[in-house]
Amino acid sequence: SNSQFSLLKQDYQAAQALYHHILLKTTTGEPALKYLQQRQLSLETIKHFQIGYAPKENKTLVSFFQGKNKEYAELNSSGLFSEDDAGNLYDRFRDRVMFPITDQSGNIVAFSGRILTTATATDQPVAKYLNSPETEIFNKGQTLFNLAAAKKAIRERGEVVLFEGFMDVISAHQAGVVNGVASMGTSLTDQQLYLLNRITKRIVICYDGDTPGIKAAQRALQLLKSTNFDVGVVVIPNGQDPDEFIKAQGAPAFKTLVEHKSLTPTAFMIKYLSQQYDLSNDADKVEFLNGALEYIIQVQSPVEQELYLGQLADQLGISKQAVQKELQDKQKTQK
Ligand code: ATP
Ligand code: MN
Ligand code: MN
Ligand code: MN
Repeated sequence: SNSQFSLLKQDYQAAQALYHHILLKTTTGEPALKYLQQRQLSLETIKHFQIGYAPKENKTLVSFFQGKNKEYAELNSSGLFSEDDAGNLYDRFRDRVMFPITDQSGNIVAFSGRILTTATATDQPVAKYLNSPETEIFNKGQTLFNLAAAKKAIRERGEVVLFEGFMDVISAHQAGVVNGVASMGTSLTDQQLYLLNRITKRIVICYDGDTPGIKAAQRALQLLKSTNFDVGVVVIPNGQDPDEFIKAQGAPAFKTLVEHKSLTPTAFMIKYLSQQYDLSNDADKVEFLNGALEYIIQVQSPVEQELYLGQLADQLGISKQAVQKELQDKQKTQK
């Protein structure tokens, strides 16, 4: 119901204000603030994204809401708490850096909480990121991190940059790429594309440069095929993610990559196909050429087709005529 909606939103707003205060103004928050500073987030960035800290102690938020005359049912359904065997509530998020997640209007509807260590998820007994559960006000598949705040910039730039992680969105923002959003740690959905379709016609995929990131980009391209979006793909070198790249290479290099070095979906697919072959080997060359032509055959624009054929010929050290002939033969057999 509407009143339930607004109560939950008030609860999230209040929780965010508390977590943010704890991070910036208390000794309890110092280790978390130090962690964020180690990750090179400025105070301005921390404030812009309203980042907070949920302390170790498991009754911080419970005690905070106790004085507010809240109904148990409301608190229990908020997703901010867990219930112990005796039916007592305790804080869901403990000892985590808290990233507020907003709906399209900018109301906080969920959190994602990150552990403070730099170790990777696989070394950890606990999940690196913990999200709020889905509630009346939060549906993961219909939410994009930073969409409300970035909407204006997305419109102005005429494109949205799609990242894998929240830290990538935040780091990119600090580096001057302010039209970024991220899905909620899951693959891109039709509903998220629907939201984006209302504000822009172009999507630039900027996922992690590692194998999972590349696979995720391929899945996203598959989903985007049946849409009218103009699509670009940025490949982050050396298997890094955008946040790592910005730290290693600096903000200007990252801006150049995003604004001037994106690949078309076809160029991206061919690039990744080529990495699966040993191109000093003739049999591999032939197989790769065949696979690449399967992508090129689907390209509508003759100019674009011509471009890919030229690049392919160069890459393989074969004449352009031979590659062209191969494509024509393929087209005949497929008719
Ligand atoms: P960081 O830089 O803080 O380590 P990241 O964004 O680089 O985070 P990845 O491991 O690349 O983290 O994962 C991408 C995204 O997937 C995260 O931003 C988060 O939304 C989600 N994610 C990662 N690990 C987990 C996890 N253990 N549980 C739930 N979601 C996760
Ligand atoms: Mn990753
Ligand atoms: Mn990453
Ligand atoms: Mn990262």
